[in-house]
Amino acid sequence: MATAQVAASDWTLNFIQHARRMLIGGRWVDALSGKSLPVINPATGALICTVPAAQKEDVDAAVAAAQTAFEGKDWRRMRPADRERLLFRLADAVEADREHLAELESLNNGKTVAMARAIDIPCTVEFLRYMAGWATKIEGRTLDLSFPAPPGKRITAYTRREPVGVVGAIIPWNFPLLMAAWKIGPALATGCTVVLKPAEETPLTALRLAELAEQVGFPAGVLNVVTGQGTETGAPLAVHKGINRLAFTGSTEVGKLVGHAAVENMTRFSLELGGKSPVIILDDVDPEIAADGAAQAIFFNHGQVCTAGSRLFVHRKGFDAVVERVAARANKIKLGPGLDPATEMGPVVSERQRDRVCRYIQRGIEEGAKAVAGGADYNGPGFFVKPTVLVGARARAVVSQEEIFGPVLVAAAFDDLSEVAALANGTPYGLGASVWSNNLSKVNELVPQLKAGTVWVNCHNIVDPAMPFGGYKQSGMGREMGQAVIDSYTELKAVCMLT
Ligand code: NAD
Ligand code: MN
Repeated sequence: MATAQVAASDWTLNFIQHARRMLIGGRWVDALSGKSLPVINPATGALICTVPAAQKEDVDAAVAAAQTAFEGKDWRRMRPADRERLLFRLADAVEADREHLAELESLNNGKTVAMARAIDIPCTVEFLRYMAGWATKIEGRTLDLSFPAPPGKRITAYTRREPVGVVGAIIPWNFPLLMAAWKIGPALATGCTVVLKPAEETPLTALRLAELAEQVGFPAGVLNVVTGQGTETGAPLAVHKGINRLAFTGSTEVGKLVGHAAVENMTRFSLELGGKSPVIILDDVDPEIAADGAAQAIFFNHGQVCTAGSRLFVHRKGFDAVVERVAARANKIKLGPGLDPATEMGPVVSERQRDRVCRYIQRGIEEGAKAVAGGADYNGPGFFVKPTVLVGARARAVVSQEEIFGPVLVAAAFDDLSEVAALANGTPYGLGASVWSNNLSKVNELVPQLKAGTVWVNCHNIVDPAMPFGGYKQSGMGREMGQAVIDSYTELKAVCMLT
């Protein structure tokens, strides 16, 4: 890796110069306890700055502010067209601030600035614009009832979609800004208010987003951000009776806790959880194209993607040719700090995550797999993991079953379509899957058999605001994107009128 220290811009240095505060009810505040949390640069392990470590009392204050804003006339009576305009203005502000946001994201998460510039920031902007458009397109229906009206009377019935209320959003560290947008976009489009809890590892761009939201004119309390640990900040938010809808992205383990808490309070909820998504290469695919696709599917964002193509199944005929090429691509990826323009892959997000991923690699090897690229032996400062390709792991091995959430691919051969469908479906997860082939009849045979919320054909990880996104099985509940997510941030009210 590059050892040169790569300096951040003056703007960023200024942003991180002081302890950051969080936004509650239109005020930038410290935690009431005075506690704070270190924010670490994963490329060096050095402290970037601190943020408040919010506790239950801070969460209570944020929820109260969001409730007040939800009931307040500034927001409640705002015309849909004005909500739309505010969201457009927020998207414009993010776009104008893209260089700052990209650098902050890189510094805090480890991904390259180039990646943040090309993916995280523009996807955030497009997502906010798409959701802005929905603010003016929320509709109910008129209903022709069969219920007999008394003589001379008439029944008129219709449905309204009303904002569900205060949204508690708990998000992960892999796409810190984009995940924040995925939650606040539909919430603000529908007229909800939000308490957002970014991941403890990556709070900085969420705080910057809140500054921008404040600058473009969202009323105080409509968007609140509480920074802190999962157990200290996330848990009190998840169990809070003042929350009307919980939106969670993260691990299946924590997702279940959030779901239980939600049901206890009858809080509406959605869970976007982990995955172990298969990449299936049929026998007609050029090995170069297959290897490009498979390498992209797993190494994009260092494998820290819920839909990462972490299991590669190649038809036995092409297995060696494809795996050899994926391994060659893995070996060529240049690791380094995200701020260095020469870097192709930055560190993973944290020391904890680096250790976790490396333990999986070691476990895989102990269980009989062979690393044909990478391994768990990166030395040096920063939380780097070598892009790794494992072959020979059994389908039941831990590395074939559990989400690793790092740049680690497990490759296996298959002989026929029914076998690969069973292999592909053979984990508790069901978030994404990709099939690579130009044989349409085989593709069409396979697609309906795959238990996954998204099936890509000859591509992987294409996500669009218009396309429903979410999981089968242990990968979650509910769908983000499109009209599905708008509906899920509303309550459906039936109105029945006798006149
Ligand atoms: P996590 O699920 O613990 O964290 C996600 C969010 O939940 C964070 O904001 C965290 O602070 C919060 N949280 C943690 N404990 C909580 C609790 N008890 N109540 C309420 N909120 C809580 O994820 P992690 O520990 O950072 O990562 C562990 C593994 O989870 C990863 O290795 C990966 O496999 C998976 N993961 C998946 C995604 C995804 O996009 N699906 C994202 C991050 C992590
Ligand atoms: Mn956790």
